[in-house]
Amino acid sequence: MHFGKQILRFIFKPQCVKCGKFGGWLCPDCKNKLIGSLPECYSCRKISPDFATHQSCLSASTPFSKVIVCWRYNEIGKNLIAKFKYSYVFQMSETLADLIASSSGFSKLIKELSPDLDQAVFTIIPLHIRRQNQRGFNQCDLLANQILASIQLTDLQYVPNLLIRRANNEHQAHLDRFQRKSNIKDAFSINKSALLQLQLNSRGKNAKQNEAQNRFAFESFKLQKRHRQLPDNKNARNKIQTNFGLKPKKPQAKTASHLLQQKQNPKTPQSPSVTKIVVFDDILTTGSTMNEAGRVLRKTFPQATLIGFCLFRGGRGN
Ligand SMILES: [Zn+2]
Ligand SMILES: [Zn+2]
Repeated sequence: MHFGKQILRFIFKPQCVKCGKFGGWLCPDCKNKLIGSLPECYSCRKISPDFATHQSCLSASTPFSKVIVCWRYNEIGKNLIAKFKYSYVFQMSETLADLIASSSGFSKLIKELSPDLDQAVFTIIPLHIRRQNQRGFNQCDLLANQILASIQLTDLQYVPNLLIRRANNEHQAHLDRFQRKSNIKDAFSINKSALLQLQLNSRGKNAKQNEAQNRFAFESFKLQKRHRQLPDNKNARNKIQTNFGLKPKKPQAKTASHLLQQKQNPKTPQSPSVTKIVVFDDILTTGSTMNEAGRVLRKTFPQATLIGFCLFRGGRGN
């Protein structure tokens, strides 16, 4: 074990946040008392398969197609978060990341992302720079790093700074639903340099794809040439091709179904390179922070599916 880690273990001797047992921040008995979150629509909070937002609940101010929640925010969750976030015990990120990875919500997220993992982006709700400096870390960034490293989804792009928090708003925790919404309004903006990096990455990916396609076309042409013994001279080649009835067919006009097919295929270069954006936050309460982040992302990524992902959400009414 790393020496620094050993010292930290000594200073912050891990102790179960619920029963006080030594040996870890959450003992197995207390972990069993956590309850997995029921799949519900994050907007109306009625049960909905796979956490999908009802069509009637989707709007410009509730843009997430689903917000997946791992666990219900009960007393144990509250103790864990209080220790992690407000007592600055950042070593707890391992425990919390394990908690996320062992939830059924997490399996749902992976299933959701698997089909187009290389076109998905994982980001977090940012803290204002002043608050982050004060705390020394962004709890969501720590957790996201832990989770993404443990599952080794190398194709998934993690862009923690995609959003910037412009305003150092009041803590949402003490505000009611209406106050939260106005407190968080216009708090985020897109980080232009992170966006540029994202575009460059995807251009790099496209360039690699194009290169592979060109190589393939070139190799096939070489093979064809060898097979048919066609000379390199263009006129001569045309003549031979005409004489032997080998003239390539004229490209057919693009039909509507062809265009539709192209539109449906996300791998075509014309389509946006980011198809899904996952926004991670530790606790979801009314959803106003998530919605405000989504509203900003929607403007820059009009085509992308927005998915929220949270460690905890309180029961209905809190
Ligand atoms: Zn315990
Ligand atoms: Zn709903």
